[in-house]
Amino acid sequence: MSLNATAAVLHQAEQPFTLETIELDELRPDEVLVRNEASGICHTDVLATGRVPLPAVFGHEAAGVVEKVGSAVTRIRPGDRVLISYPWCGACPHCDRGEPYLCSRHMELVFGGTRLDGSHTLMLQGQPISGAFFQQSSFATHSIALERAVVPVHGDLPSRYLAATPCGVQTGAGAILYSLRVSAAESLVVFGVGAVGLSAIIAGHLVGATPLIAVDRIPERLALARELGATHTVNAIGGELIAQIREVARNGVDVSLETSGNEHALEAAIGSLATGGRCGMVIAPHLGQKYPFSPSEIFTRAATLIGIIQGSAVPRVFLNTLLQLHAKGRFPFERMVRHYDFSDINRAFEDAKAGRTIKPVLEFRQ
Ligand SMILES: [Zn+2]
Ligand SMILES: [Zn+2]
Repeated sequence: MSLNATAAVLHQAEQPFTLETIELDELRPDEVLVRNEASGICHTDVLATGRVPLPAVFGHEAAGVVEKVGSAVTRIRPGDRVLISYPWCGACPHCDRGEPYLCSRHMELVFGGTRLDGSHTLMLQGQPISGAFFQQSSFATHSIALERAVVPVHGDLPSRYLAATPCGVQTGAGAILYSLRVSAAESLVVFGVGAVGLSAIIAGHLVGATPLIAVDRIPERLALARELGATHTVNAIGGELIAQIREVARNGVDVSLETSGNEHALEAAIGSLATGGRCGMVIAPHLGQKYPFSPSEIFTRAATLIGIIQGSAVPRVFLNTLLQLHAKGRFPFERMVRHYDFSDINRAFEDAKAGRTIKPVLEFRQ
């Protein structure tokens, strides 16, 4: 029997979401039905409106309780408290190697609007619409998710905080700990201290990166970055970026991470590297956009530029590690969270776009 849910449907780009009743498809054997208690809003939800056929239901950071499992599900049970993280196919060479963040079908799985077999998970007034966003479409009271992307969580942290972690926090922390493998006494600069960048700052502080420099345009965010471990802050509108960073790290930095999507920030992230340095990027603002830097910037420094997906993290392992660190007070990601009722989703997006809120989390009252 199919199930009705309330979802925030986007019918047209740049228009508000409307809360509507949708119908969820039957579960496939490897799927799980989650009653969502909260969902984070992530930058990709904003960027994706141009990539997915509309109408669509977005959202990819669900926290909730399992209601039902498919016939082949073995590791998840009804009643489990869970997070839904990013999906992977489970059958490509990267998935076989235990690197799901490199899944060769990642883009189809996150932006395809359907299951991999092309079937729809959501119907609106009898018509199929784009669902299965990150194979979850969590701006809804219920989500259909793949068992392998569902992470049972331990501890008693409420869903309204848990929902900040499955993409944004995981990506920022994983970028530092896994993708770039920053070690103690390496210098690190993070461009953009939104949810991903602040998570990178917390992780950099955790491993002892020093100096640990935060770059942004919003003074309040820079102040929070300092409270969360940044040793220095640079306001991007305060002058020439590379020169300001080299005032702190004279020979350049060992590691830079670009999270803002700004082309000048990426240029500075590469230009501020020391020889042998590593630059990670977690965002590209427009597919096909050209960036104004010369490859010789990388060659002459023997530097590395690396694209990072989901912090190179395996969710089942990493999310619970982050939650353990949080319980010990060592990963205080709750400092960036602001809560909104589901019915206020449009205000949450406006606040995020305007920079008033770092990490919006929607709460579902059922
Ligand atoms: Zn795969
Ligand atoms: Zn995301």
